[in-house]
Amino acid sequence: VAQGVQRENFGHNQMLRPSAAYTPADEQEVLQILDRHRGQRIRAVGRLHSWSEAVTGDGVLLDLRRLNDVRLQSDGGQLVATVGAGCQIKRLLKELDGEGATLHSLGLITAQTIAGAISTGTHGSGRHSMSHYVVGVRLARYDASSGQATIEELSAGEPLQAARCSLGSLGIIIAVRIRCREQYNVQEHFTESRRLSDVLDAEGPFPLQQFYLLPWRWSYFIQHRREDDRPRSRLARLYRLYWLGAMDYGLILQILFLERVARSRRLIRLAFRR
Ligand SMILES: Cc1cc2nc3c(=O)[nH]c(=O)nc-3n(C[C@H](O)[C@H](O)[C@H](O)COP(=O)(O)OP(=O)(O)OC[C@H]3O[C@@H](n4cnc5c(N)ncnc54)[C@H](O)[C@@H]3O)c2cc1C
Repeated sequence: VAQGVQRENFGHNQMLRPSAAYTPADEQEVLQILDRHRGQRIRAVGRLHSWSEAVTGDGVLLDLRRLNDVRLQSDGGQLVATVGAGCQIKRLLKELDGEGATLHSLGLITAQTIAGAISTGTHGSGRHSMSHYVVGVRLARYDASSGQATIEELSAGEPLQAARCSLGSLGIIIAVRIRCREQYNVQEHFTESRRLSDVLDAEGPFPLQQFYLLPWRWSYFIQHRREDDRPRSRLARLYRLYWLGAMDYGLILQILFLERVARSRRLIRLAFRR
């Protein structure tokens, strides 16, 4: 247990000042901590990549990074992963890669923990959110009659639906069971349109599409995406590099430069003109 610690989220806009902070090694330790702090405010966190107050709390902090086992099983012909709450998505993907498998849905980055990612409805690769594919949640919570900490397995109905996206408010997630699938290729190209109807019309041919509304241009940037059976193109690597350089870093550095270094309204208007 650590006292007097402060932790900041990834975006440096939320500060956590817990009264006590724990990094439990297993489920039993989680239950002991809950019993010790009964009646107090308790917050579990993942990798603090949330920007909102969903990660804040001045009570007891639980970081479940040591609960990070991954077990893969076939369930009715489908691959299901049982993942420790604190396992980062990138580690889960590595384990799945060994089986030629992957997740149905992902966000832009893979640094999040599985519990943190589902708890905020993380989404992005064009299908449902990651929560949608969760078939079971193992939860530590207080028993309503005895007041003792206890373990509950949620695998159906409204309790499972609530646990799939619970913003840390239902209990401490110990492990998540999530459906996986075989790896697949995605065909993607960029386009821009000023009309929302163009975006919506493309939902049929490009079911994995994603779009952004750019308020200063009042236009839509659309990533047309669909699964593709053909082998991976040799240019795919180049396209990824373009994305990394132009979008992930280039755009952000451009905005930071204009806002913090150049501080020129004329340049900003020029860069983001309609
Ligand atoms: C650079 C960047 C890119 C991003 N890209 C995307 C994106 O493409 N799509 C998208 O949807 N989101 C995106 N996000 C948001 C991110 O996916 C979410 O904020 C996610 O919740 C972060 O996961 P985490 O492990 O850091 O959890 P945290 O931020 O630490 O926690 C998130 C929530 O989960 C709860 N929680 C965590 N662990 C447990 C547990 N064991 N038991 C109970 N509750 C728990 C916390 O209490 C909190 O309410 C991005 C964030 C960043 C910083």
